[in-house]
This record gives sequence, structure tokens and C-alpha cells, in this order.
Amino acid sequence: MIPFNKPFVTGKEIQYINDAVAGGHISGNGRYTKLCQQFFENRWGFRKTLLTTSCTDALEMCALLLDIQPGDEVIMPSYTFVSTAQAFVRQGAKIVFADSQSNHPGMDAETIESLITTKTKVIVPVHYAGVACEMDKIMDLASKYNFFVVEDAAQALDSYFVKKTGEKKALGSIGHLAAFSFHETKNLQCGEGGLLAINDERFIRRAEIIWEKGTNRAEFFRGEVNKYGWVDIGSSFLPADIIAAFLYAQLEHLELIQQRRLFLWNKYEALLSDLSPEYIQQPLIHDYATNNGHMYYIVVNQADIRDRLIGYLKENGIMAVFHYLSLHSSPYYLNKHDGRDLKNCDAFSENLIRLPLFHELELQQVEYISELIHSFFREQE
Ligand SMILES: *Cc1c(COP(=O)(O)O)cnc(C)c1O
Repeated sequence: MIPFNKPFVTGKEIQYINDAVAGGHISGNGRYTKLCQQFFENRWGFRKTLLTTSCTDALEMCALLLDIQPGDEVIMPSYTFVSTAQAFVRQGAKIVFADSQSNHPGMDAETIESLITTKTKVIVPVHYAGVACEMDKIMDLASKYNFFVVEDAAQALDSYFVKKTGEKKALGSIGHLAAFSFHETKNLQCGEGGLLAINDERFIRRAEIIWEKGTNRAEFFRGEVNKYGWVDIGSSFLPADIIAAFLYAQLEHLELIQQRRLFLWNKYEALLSDLSPEYIQQPLIHDYATNNGHMYYIVVNQADIRDRLIGYLKENGIMAVFHYLSLHSSPYYLNKHDGRDLKNCDAFSENLIRLPLFHELELQQVEYISELIHSFFREQE
């Protein structure tokens, strides 16, 4: 069976974990945590970063930092992972779900303006498959209507928004705050892990406090205060340095990991390109976006075809999977949703199929999978 995902381990992880253990600082905010954070800040230009135990946690930190209160409204796509919404719902926010673009699962920046009210506090663009949302439009709206932007960049490490001038800005470095994931299904992984990127200086001090259970411990260790204590709300959002050591090995192999994923992605793209658009749509990379090879997906025309194609691939030893179920019609949120139809989102829920894509996937396997997709559609004729 060719699995959908197989987490890649570079080989250096165990060595760095041993080193962290030998160094005697195993809990959070140790040497490897700092090495990882420096790497992120230097490489992608985030103003300040904090490692977290997951992207979910980083999003929860955002909701605390932005002081979300019951009744506040948060705009985000319905086609996303539960955590994007959950982090804000836990603080009492009302989620106003936006539709996807017709040709891409990402949120449609054109429709956002009509969803903004005086209660809108935050907009959460999700860079689906690592492909940028239209960040210039979203940031313009944020300054016009005075709300915050939290990028859900869980899938978007090492991907960019391309401005009209050609200048590239790393995803996660544009919004006031951003959250990344290092779950084992993401490009770089440490099992479970995440990162909060803080691009608006006003949030840095409080973020460190919330990260360390509401204490000013980080300032204490830098020698800025001579006692530390309870100064705010917070939780235990920081991972053990063992986890950071694992992640650091992955960061050191960034080029290798990204090159391999893009190589396989481009093979799928080429091998499926002769299939009629009546059968499948291939992933769209907007001209204002780059590709980080996070995901290779295809979009078919009906849920019934999706199910049969997934079944056909499975019979032939391949695990392909569909993706998000629309959050606005989920059992938890259905009776809280305002009833607007989100057609594009529902269409991606029904018709999108993700194909296996991981470091050790072989070229012949990509060829085999692509050939099976061809033969499935030949049999439909
Ligand atoms: C993976 C993912 C998350 C959650 O990440 P965790 O690290 O598992 O908490 C959130 N949002 C999106 C868009 C994701 O893909």
C-alpha cells in the first residue's frame, strides 16, 4: 500500500535530542528552542517567533493576545481545519465564514468586505496548500476597517506572497500574527508542534508571558527583572526542548525536504496535465503566490466520482483522501451559522482529492498513481 503520508526523518533528530538531554535543559525555552526561533526569524523575516506545542496552540495564543471577547466577530474561510475556528470560539467569538474562491479553496478576498461589521475584530486567511491568499487586499481592508489579521500559515512554511512590484514576502510575516504547524503531515515536522510568529511589536512582551503560563519568566531569564511571578493570563504553550531539537534537525534539511516535495509535485502536475478539464482540475497557483510543494490535489466534478476514484485507487494499493468538511455545516456550528450558502466551499468539500506526497515517495510511484487516474477516466468513457 502506498500511504497518503509518511513523516520524513532526516537522521539527525536523535543526535540532537541526545544533545539536548546531555545539556541538562530538557523543558521549554532551552538552547534548541532558541536555535529554531532564530532560524525562523532570520530566514523568513518574522519579527519575533515562539515555538508552541501545536499550531492549534499558536492560534489559541492569538485569540488570547487579541483579547477576543464574547460577541466579537472573526472572519475566516469555512474550508479549513477545525482549529482555525476553535481557537476563537473558545473565547466566545462568533465566526463569520467566508466562501472559497471558485477556482481555489482559499478565502475569496472580494467577498470579505461585505462580511465586515463594527464587531469584526479579526480576519484569518488560511493559505491552503501553502498557496497565498490575496494579502495586499486583506491588509488594506484591515487598516481601512481597523481589525487584526492572523495568518493560518499551518501549511505555508517557506511559501511567499508576491507583490505587484515582484517583491516577495514570506507567508506568516505579513499579518499582525501568524501560526504554523509541524504536525507530522506538514512539510517540516516534529510529531506535534507549532510556531507563533509575531509581526506587530505591540504583542511581543505579552506573547512571552502568555506562553509561560502568565508569568514573566522569560524576562527573568534575560535578567530584565530580578523576580518572576504571575502577571497575566496564560497557559503552558511551550514545547520541551527535546521537541525543538527534533525540529532543528528538520530545519537544517529544509532545502533537501523542499526540493524533493517540489520535484514530486511537478511530476504529478506534468503527468496529469493531458487529462481533460472536464475530468479534473489541477491545483491553481495564483500569480501572486508561490508553491511550497505542501500538497498535490485534484478536483473532480462530482462527489460520486470522487468516491469512486478514491475507491479505485485504494483497490490498487493507493491511499488518496478527501479533505475538509465545510465548518459552517458541521454538527457543532450548523445552528450557529447565519445560513448563507457557501457554494464554492461545499464544492471543494465534495470534489477535492489529495494524492500521496511525501519525501520517500518514488518517481515510479507517482507515475503509477498518475497512470491509474488516467485509466480510471478511460473506463468512464
Ligand atoms: C494542520 C493544520 C492546523 C492544525 O495544526 P496542529 O499543529 O495539528 O494543531 C490548523 N490549520 C490548518 C490550515 C492546518 O492545515
